[in-house]
This record gives sequence, C-alpha cells and structure tokens, in this order.
Amino acid sequence: MPRLPIVAIDGPAGAGKSTIAKHLAARLNFILLDTGALYRTIALAAARAGLLEGIDPNSDHEDSSATITALAEAIAERNGISLEQDPEQPKGLRVRLDGEDVSGAIRAPEMSMGASRVSAIAGVRESLMNLQRSIAKNGGVVAEGRDMGTVVFPDSVAKFFLTASLEARAERRRLEFVERGEDIDLEEIKKNVAQRDKQDSERAIAPLKRANDAALIDSTGRSIDHILEEMEERVRAVMGHDESPS
Ligand code: C5P
Repeated sequence: MPRLPIVAIDGPAGAGKSTIAKHLAARLNFILLDTGALYRTIALAAARAGLLEGIDPNSDHEDSSATITALAEAIAERNGISLEQDPEQPKGLRVRLDGEDVSGAIRAPEMSMGASRVSAIAGVRESLMNLQRSIAKNGGVVAEGRDMGTVVFPDSVAKFFLTASLEARAERRRLEFVERGEDIDLEEIKKNVAQRDKQDSERAIAPLKRANDAALIDSTGRSIDHILEEMEERVRAVMGHDESPS
C-alpha cells in the first residue's frame, strides 16, 4: 500500500492553522500533529523551572538557552510529552507533560510568547524535531506549525502556507479568548500577534517562511469550510497520484 502523505501546514499566529488542521485530520482520518503544542509545553516546563524570565530572543543568553535545552532534551528523552487525539478538546488534542494534563495551561497568553522564546533556541528545536518525525514516521499525518514544509518535513508532497491579514488573525485570537470566558482587548492581541510573528520570522533557525512548493492560502474573509474543501481536494489529488511503493 502506498505510504500516506504528511500534510504540512505552516503560517503565522491566528491564521486558522489549528482549526483547519484539526478538521482536515478528521476528514482524512489522519493523525493530528500540533507542533506549537510541543513548544508551548517546553515553555510551560521552563516557566515552572523559573527559566523563562528575561529571555530575549534577539540576544544570546547562553546560560538560560543551555539550561532550557537541557530541560527540553530531558523531557524528550523520557518521552515526557504525549499528544492524545481527542476531538472533544478545542484544539483536537489532549496534551500531557509527565502525565499531567496541560492542555489548558499551555494556551495561556504567556505561553504563546514563552513558546516563541524557547522555539528560537537551536537545542530545543533539535529535541523536538526528532519527536515530530517519530510521530509522523508512518505518514498519514496533518502537521501544523512554522517550519513543517521547510525543515521538519521538507519532502512532504502536500504543503500549505496559511495566512490572513493581521486584523483577521487578531480577531480570530480574540474570539478564542471569548470562548474561554476571557475578554482581552483587540489592540493588545494585535500587538502580541504582530510581535510573535516578527520573532518567529526573524529568528536565525527555522524561521517562519513559506516553502517554495507550498500552496499559499489566504483565509481572510473566507469560511473554514471553504478552505477545508480546497485543501482536502488537493491532498486527495496527491494521494490519488502517489504510485510510489510503500
Ligand atoms: O502555533 P502556536 O501558536 O501554538 O505556536 C506557538 C509558538 O511556537 C509560535 O509562536 C512559534 O514561536 C513556535 N513554533 C515554532 N515552530 C513550530 C510551531 C510553533 O517555532 N513548528
């Protein structure tokens, strides 16, 4: 049987990647791999260990970077992060750190920025790369993040770069907060999202960028269903054409 593809979805914060990835994985019956959740979990562990304060992504704080790398390596080594498929969860996954359910804790705004910070550390990316590849080793995965098509799964035959205007992305994030009962000012969210995009796009290692062979999808003003139709069609076309053995 031909190997099922790895669908690679990248894009900036709030473009709708996680919602789309969740539904696309369900439609295709693929495994959902939310790689942002992995970085968020490392950020949570780093914050709990008191390591997150004062890490500036634009300068090399060798000390904390080395300590956070060691922390990430140790977590990866002991298989400390588990992602369980769970359609009942808002993001489609239950995330555990050493057995503790951290699905809610990693979604706090501080963890968005924390994840962006720890994700600029080479050693952290390295440890998580192996984990991501091992989850996807048999194919049949919808992987979403910032470097899926460029670094982690460069051979993917189904790459997408999902984007939207800053306004649309900030508004989407705001609605997510409202759903969780939190009311956060749109301007503040906008600032936050813009800053995170800047950090993610300008970092030296695995910056957020569209792979040359990724289909560009702008979700501004489009319904999720519409985008899903388009993406599912493209993935099924690739699956239909894949004649390669195993
Ligand atoms: O997608 P999400 O908002 O959960 O990602 C949180 C942060 O994790 C991003 O802002 C980014 O800095 C980092 N990340 C990354 N590479 C990925 C996925 C997420 O650097 N593949």
